[in-house]
Amino acid sequence: MSAKTIARAGREFYVSAGRFALMVSGTERVIHPMPELPEVETVRRGLEPVMQGARFETVEARRRDLRWPLPADFAARLEGTTVTGIGRRAKYLLVDLSSGEVLLMHLGMSGSFRVTQDGGARVPGKYHHEKPQHATHDHVVFHMSNGAWIAFNDPRRFGSMKLVPRDRLDQEPLLRALGPEPLGNAFDAAMLARACGRKKTSLKAALSDQRVVAGLGNIYVCEALWRARLSPKRRASTIASRSGAPNERARALVEGIRDVLSDAIRAGGSSLRDHKRTDGELGLFQHQFAVYDRAGERCPRPRCGGTIKRIVQTGRSTFFCPVCQR
Ligand SMILES: [Zn+2]
Repeated sequence: MSAKTIARAGREFYVSAGRFALMVSGTERVIHPMPELPEVETVRRGLEPVMQGARFETVEARRRDLRWPLPADFAARLEGTTVTGIGRRAKYLLVDLSSGEVLLMHLGMSGSFRVTQDGGARVPGKYHHEKPQHATHDHVVFHMSNGAWIAFNDPRRFGSMKLVPRDRLDQEPLLRALGPEPLGNAFDAAMLARACGRKKTSLKAALSDQRVVAGLGNIYVCEALWRARLSPKRRASTIASRSGAPNERARALVEGIRDVLSDAIRAGGSSLRDHKRTDGELGLFQHQFAVYDRAGERCPRPRCGGTIKRIVQTGRSTFFCPVCQR
């Protein structure tokens, strides 16, 4: 995959949290919005080529805590183990280890990974090796057997890392309460209608609830509702009949959620490819949203003619088109 090539070029790249930002070393960027499922999936795809099959040689834990304290003997439990797989559940990265444990990682609000191939650092003079401006927030650094250095950078420290035995992952409290994976086979209109059928909250609030569907946040809830032509203010229960069966709205919503996430993941993947094509020079990829952060702009739906409006629901901004979303 492309990310491997980027790392092998001897430069650094960021597999970042928000809005698919891929940052070149030394380039200061804005604080990005909180990562949602597509961003985490993009990070997973960026890390896979440098982690899969590699062994943790040395692990530097430069702090004892992120959001929570790091596990006891964190470095010792990782060192010497090999990565046998890297998966994702909602917004958690799950790194399978040959020791039988799983390294569970969450990016929090500002977490990102920076991958550096060791050519620059271990062979002085071979590559120009800039000192990253963010290095003060590199809290954990993995030195892998393939020469990759993977630094977890998190200025706000809402990220987390935890080690869980693979055979006890089912009982892991962080994962157990999560609702269905929106791109998984189990997620469908019937399931969504069941989860929303008795809710007295708005659709916006229901979809933001990780127990209803996992991995969605403010951005993709707004975008999915626009795609489904449903108002964020509509009562969640109106996507189900009295008996709890799904109606047309539930079906449109499932399609909207799946489509917006798939498109965003595809855009994230292409941002990795673009990065390769430009040999690390192009740093930032901005995903285009239909309504998110577009208050006052014309609704992009053909012939709608509405103007995007911003309202506040449960303390968060909601963006929607009052003309085509009902
Ligand atoms: Zn519209």
